[in-house]
Amino acid sequence: MITVTEAARLIGENILALPVTEVPLAEAYGAVLREPIYADRDFPPFHRVTMDGIAIRYASFQGGEDTFGIEGVQLAGDLPQTLKLPDGCLEVMTGAILPLNADTVIRYEDLKLFERNGTRYAHIFAAPKGPMQNVHQQGSDRKATDLLIPAGTLLSPAEIAVIATVGKTTVLVSQPPRIAIISTGDELVEVTEMPLPHQIRQSNSYMLQAALQEQGVKGQRFHLRDDKAALFIELKDLLSRFDVLILSGGVSKGKADFVPEVLAELGVQKLFHEVAQRPGKPFWFGRVPDGPVVFALPGNPVSTFVCFYKYVRPWVRASLGAAAPILPKAVLQQEVFFKPALTYFLPVKIGVATSGMLSAKPVTTGGSGDFAGLLHADGFLEIPQHQTTFSAGEVYPFISFRS
Ligand code: AMP
Ligand code: MG
Repeated sequence: MITVTEAARLIGENILALPVTEVPLAEAYGAVLREPIYADRDFPPFHRVTMDGIAIRYASFQGGEDTFGIEGVQLAGDLPQTLKLPDGCLEVMTGAILPLNADTVIRYEDLKLFERNGTRYAHIFAAPKGPMQNVHQQGSDRKATDLLIPAGTLLSPAEIAVIATVGKTTVLVSQPPRIAIISTGDELVEVTEMPLPHQIRQSNSYMLQAALQEQGVKGQRFHLRDDKAALFIELKDLLSRFDVLILSGGVSKGKADFVPEVLAELGVQKLFHEVAQRPGKPFWFGRVPDGPVVFALPGNPVSTFVCFYKYVRPWVRASLGAAAPILPKAVLQQEVFFKPALTYFLPVKIGVATSGMLSAKPVTTGGSGDFAGLLHADGFLEIPQHQTTFSAGEVYPFISFRS
């Protein structure tokens, strides 16, 4: 039996090298960028007015002028006008280019507008702080050709906005792996079926499919019987069609747990079987040399859950080329005892401690089969091996399963 750290290391050594694909920008959210994005123009591309008001020459105000004759209006989207007189001004709107000869914008809130002899005037009663007030200066955020987003970035709405503004309608991203999600077990029936008293509806593959969807990756669901010959035929076919197999169930010591031996017969090289953790100890992991990667997770729903979020999710992200996420830590809120020499994934509800750190309150569940217990949890606190008492106030890594 290997440690959690060793299991994560072996999985990390089997990251897939995924090809690059081009997708429309509108479909790129959640994908991992595989090309650098550069600024095609300055950010902002012109001196942009940031307040509705008037544009003046600062020198005129400094020279003692506080009332300016309005020469016209400069709207957002208009070509730049030219300010003519030293004591003149142009009304300007947010988003407009700064008029030529003007260098300062005074917002309407600091003005009194009036009319005299058919001419409109603006009187300034709150002095501007200096030239370029209320002007977002050209190139002050980024310069043309600057690197804006490096390859490997997970595309969130902020990145999508920047990619749109540099005029790209398509982007290069990682092509998601082809993933088969395979539940096993003769006691399991489809969601649409009415289970007999000794049967249950299968839920793991729906959970795994949704969890993959969160990573922007699709998985195709299959269900296999606890039948050695059938497993051999079906898994052989799936290994030829998919980059990744995520199985659940059939990896423990039961009489009908055929998955490890069938995988071995099919040439999937075992990298480990059994990890010193609870839940999820029977976890099996292997790979066809230079071929598909196989995660065979224990079938108890909470075990499947823990193994997905601890091992499969980081592996998927790394395979897509995303930078490793920062694992947050949370402060344990009450004392926990755990005797076995195993890493313990404790279901917790997350809050905010007075220190501002995340706080983790243990959620009582009925063990690895109680997936309804997860409804009250936000994730797992990873509690280290070789310690039996974990005191309130201690800080441990937190693995969230809620976004
Ligand atoms: P196994 O790992 O096959 O020994 O299964 C352990 C427990 O998890 C058994 O009680 C199974 O009925 C249950 N189980 C296995 N697969 C699923 C699934 N896809 N959905 C719900 N429960 C499952
Ligand atoms: Mg089973």
